[in-house]
Amino acid sequence: MPAIDLHTHSCCSDGSFTPQQLIREAQRLGLSAIALTDHDTMAGVAEAMLAGATCGVEVLPGIEVSASHNGQAVHILGYGAAADHPGLRCLVAELATLRETRNQAILARLDSLGITVNRAELTASTPGLIGRPHIARQLVRQGHASSIAQAFRRFLRRNGRAYVPAGKFPAGETIRIIRQAGGLAVLAHPTTIDKNLKGVPTLVRKLSESGLDGLEVFYPGHSQLICRRLLELCQQHRLLATGGSDFHGSLKPEIQLGGAPVMPPVPYQLFKELKAVLTATMPLPSPQPTQAPTG
Ligand code: AMP
Ligand code: ZN
Ligand code: FE
Ligand code: FE
Repeated sequence: MPAIDLHTHSCCSDGSFTPQQLIREAQRLGLSAIALTDHDTMAGVAEAMLAGATCGVEVLPGIEVSASHNGQAVHILGYGAAADHPGLRCLVAELATLRETRNQAILARLDSLGITVNRAELTASTPGLIGRPHIARQLVRQGHASSIAQAFRRFLRRNGRAYVPAGKFPAGETIRIIRQAGGLAVLAHPTTIDKNLKGVPTLVRKLSESGLDGLEVFYPGHSQLICRRLLELCQQHRLLATGGSDFHGSLKPEIQLGGAPVMPPVPYQLFKELKAVLTATMPLPSPQPTQAPTG
């Protein structure tokens, strides 16, 4: 059965692979389709699609937006949106500003703890958008933690000593923009909101009112019970089910592309269903002007 991965990061955000390397890795692993879902940017999508055409891997354009709902951080995956849609471009610009403000606040907090992060090295070693994993890697380089995971535990995770909450771009607004840009909006890794899904049914109901299209059902660490409950929510709200590994390369070394062995392979059928809805909702081409009769 062909397998897919609908949640991956490249070096355009906090992954370590270039988009092309990511697609080559997918080909090596025998994956049939990949969605590139970098945090807050679609900058890597063109390169990934070109590589996909060469390697025989289907590539779905994607993004993972850092949004917020009632003060709660919520990640929204956008699939098949047009990167050059004006609304999406505005959203991406706004997210970059929020991210930069947050990064500065995190570095200021670290400063106040007596830890001066080498800004020049941090920037020089990050080709795309800077996120907490890059700051974590820099803390490891400077000897303040033994691993990225430990840097998160000590400083960067919620309740860590240098934690600063993410910018608060509304999740409902995010969903509307993704859909206006021709894409489908999917709630990412619902277990990060609550590992037992408490509060998730209410959140899903609210986001469905804004047009949510799907739920990320298959994800590393999701038990069979969790998957079953998420599938029930999909049925209840007529949502698509998706799945992916959240691959980041060396910035999250415990996760492989495709998710093995910490999650079952994601079936190609989910990608087929996603594509069918995308095709059905694609705006019709504008009518060609009829030619005036001559002679
Ligand atoms: P940011 O977009 O700057 O908030 O960073 C979010 C990314 O940090 C996530 O996509 C994960 O890759 C990573 N991350 C979040 N929490 C942890 C953690 N506790 N340990 C390791 N990586 C984490
Ligand atoms: Zn990430
Ligand atoms: Fe995420
Ligand atoms: Fe992710």
